[in-house]
Amino acid sequence: MNHDESRSLYDRALSVLAGGVNSSVRATQPYPFFVERGDGAHVIDADGNRYVDYVMGYGPLLYGHDAPEPVQSAVQKHAAAGPMYGAPTEIEVEHAEFVARHVPSVEMLRFVNSGTEATVSAVRLARGVTGRDKIVVMQGGYHGAQESTLVEGGPDGAKPSTPGIPSSFADHTIPVPFNDEETVREVFAEHGEDIAAVLTEPILANTGIVHPVDGYLEALRDVTEAHGALLIFDEVITGFRVGGLQCAQGKFGVTPDLTTFGKIIGGGFPVGAVGGKAELVEQFTPGGDVFQSGTFSGHPVTMAAGHEYLKYAAENDVYGHVDRLGEKLRAGITDILEDQAPEYTVVGTDSMFKTVFTRHGAAERADACVDGCSQVESCPNYDACPKTGADVSNTETDRWERVFWQEMKDRGVFLTANQFESQFVSYAHTDEDIEKTLEAYKAAL
Ligand SMILES: *Cc1c(COP(=O)(O)O)cnc(C)c1O
Repeated sequence: MNHDESRSLYDRALSVLAGGVNSSVRATQPYPFFVERGDGAHVIDADGNRYVDYVMGYGPLLYGHDAPEPVQSAVQKHAAAGPMYGAPTEIEVEHAEFVARHVPSVEMLRFVNSGTEATVSAVRLARGVTGRDKIVVMQGGYHGAQESTLVEGGPDGAKPSTPGIPSSFADHTIPVPFNDEETVREVFAEHGEDIAAVLTEPILANTGIVHPVDGYLEALRDVTEAHGALLIFDEVITGFRVGGLQCAQGKFGVTPDLTTFGKIIGGGFPVGAVGGKAELVEQFTPGGDVFQSGTFSGHPVTMAAGHEYLKYAAENDVYGHVDRLGEKLRAGITDILEDQAPEYTVVGTDSMFKTVFTRHGAAERADACVDGCSQVESCPNYDACPKTGADVSNTETDRWERVFWQEMKDRGVFLTANQFESQFVSYAHTDEDIEKTLEAYKAAL
């Protein structure tokens, strides 16, 4: 593969963009390829190389790069008509009605412009309505580039994970290990009066994809309720991806007080949203007194794209297709691992997948886990499959990033560039794409 054009674009970018990119995960080694255009499930780079794309914009692109016709025409219509006004529009109401109809926890919403803004607003709302300052988060969980959650440490003390955040922010955040019921109960026993909320992804999807063990989400529901704290599910990735239109909360049967959305809910345009019980969401200004506002919030083009995205999924077998291909891919990779790398673990569910380069896995899998670890206790691999963010960090992350990812790219398969971020199958992927991808796994592993 020739990459001359990408290299020269990156050379120019390094002079005028911080690190040559606008989001740090894009700065792959030795330099990223620059995309010229998308084509269904594929991307074509500036040198004309074609890749099967499983990055899918890091999650938003449920349909791949050619949105269904109703999405495209709605986008064009709203872009031409405005594109935005600083006054409310019908499409915001329609999109909110649709989401409230399908997602168990949502009666009312506030749309914002990114997943980060959604989690910032949800944390402020939780603190505002409870009058408490502390939030509990999961080690290895990700909630965007926000001050309260960019922390490291454990239940006994947290500090900011980046320069630029005063340590006083981290004083109010309590990181706990995912899937560890005992620790979260201890934290509540000690700090229950001061905890505004537990904020977690229902599946850790930015850290290798870690599925909850049986009963864990229920335990979070129980302990928050008992202490008058809120449970917030960050469904920025899992929303309208896991469990279809009911989202992961519907699939797991655990209803949080607040839910944050992003990615798919904007149909490929910048978006975020906070949804939940009306009595809570109403506390945002102007109905309540928890300040929240945004110039671009509820942008008509975004709302139209998101709404047509979800409506199309309600009317066509979109989730049937992406989930079937996801299962086929995960089962195919599991087969390959059995021969070539029995210590590695396939993770993911629905249309998400990843291979975690665990160091000590068993070759055998329980039936329920042959298409991705679902934390079945009787599985021979149960003790080795990742349960926490730390379990994923302790894997062969360098090999993943420096050898495997590069080899897959050279074979025309575009994966997320590190061990941690999820990968996605879209409605545009075909059985042929999956077979080609499995061949590449066989050769690269
Ligand atoms: C992507 C993501 C975010 C941040 O969303 P942005 O739109 O990038 O700000 C927050 N939470 C989760 C779970 C995410 O996957």
